[in-house]
Amino acid sequence: MNNILVTRSSMPDFEEYTNEIKDIWQSHWLTNMGVKHQELQKELIDYLDVEKLDLMVNGHFAIELSMQAMNLHGEVITTPFTFASTTHAIVRNGCEPVFCDIDPVSYCIDASKIEDLITDRTVAIAPVHVYGHMCDVEEIQRIANKYGLKVIYDAAHAFGVKYKGHGLGSYGDVSCYSFHATKVFNSIEGGCVCYHDEDFGKTLYQLKNFGIHGPEVVDGVGANAKMNEFCAAMGLCNLRHVDGEIAKRKAVVERYREHLEGVDGLQLSPIQKDMQPNYAYFPVVFDEKVFGSSRNEVFDALAKIGVGARKYFYPLTSSFDCFHGKYDVMKTPIAVRISKRVLTLPLYADLALEDVDRICKVILECKK
Ligand SMILES: *Cc1c(COP(=O)(O)O)cnc(C)c1O
Repeated sequence: MNNILVTRSSMPDFEEYTNEIKDIWQSHWLTNMGVKHQELQKELIDYLDVEKLDLMVNGHFAIELSMQAMNLHGEVITTPFTFASTTHAIVRNGCEPVFCDIDPVSYCIDASKIEDLITDRTVAIAPVHVYGHMCDVEEIQRIANKYGLKVIYDAAHAFGVKYKGHGLGSYGDVSCYSFHATKVFNSIEGGCVCYHDEDFGKTLYQLKNFGIHGPEVVDGVGANAKMNEFCAAMGLCNLRHVDGEIAKRKAVVERYREHLEGVDGLQLSPIQKDMQPNYAYFPVVFDEKVFGSSRNEVFDALAKIGVGARKYFYPLTSSFDCFHGKYDVMKTPIAVRISKRVLTLPLYADLALEDVDRICKVILECKK
């Protein structure tokens, strides 16, 4: 069996891409909001079904610059069960992350535990649609309205997810997507911010270009977070095929479920009510006492046959070395428990169903 990684980037045919970038040789316009950038932006507003959208160089700067554009100072309630980016964006803005525990089924922030964490220093909530699972967007909005808090969604995993027929990216003040090579939709590197407020949008646009306001005016301490034309072109190509890629992911997920659903000691994630999923990840939580093997033992058994599953998300961001001693991880016991037991299995559009069969066979052989 060939080595199988946890993910494999979707790519268009070589000719489709070279065709897409041909005009760049005529225009010599390589970056700074060129034609491809504008086109991709327009198409994504349609596809994601959102009001306004700005492209970014990556998903991290989408989050970090959104927070900067909101001029946040204080505490931000968030989840430790996420990629480094969410927490780092908060800390790099000089804000204090306050870690809320997660829901034991969706693994997203447990909205019923947010209010207890609100203080007079709380300025925002930064939830994550982890694995493409949806946060309790309605309850989070109710809380935000009641206490006057901003909501910044990390929607890096949620490309194409719909809730009640509408784009999930419409929720919150902003929703930030990642188009990194490993995500459901990629522009090599890339991302975007979906938003509603026009003034916010203007500030964000300037911050992604050094805070430049006009030829002789720089009135923000911005960064360089512009998406270049080659990435935008890759995005345009991949967007044409993304529905097909998601359909193929669905078939892979269904195959996994055929093998693993109902096995004692394994927790699979149910499809959430009223939502159209994107099949971004396939997390399995192992209960060692019932299943007979631990997550780490299954991880090792898969590694032995060249299959790279991921302990995603382990460790919690709140226990990163760079935050040593700062946060009490025992305040989020469910996040601790899940992070020690979860494995995300290989999942990408072109993963052969026979490989899924073999992966599941190894997992089931670990059952005692
Ligand atoms: C990938 C990811 C990001 C960051 O996106 P980049 O495009 O890699 O900068 C942020 N949050 C989560 C949850 C992610 O998985």
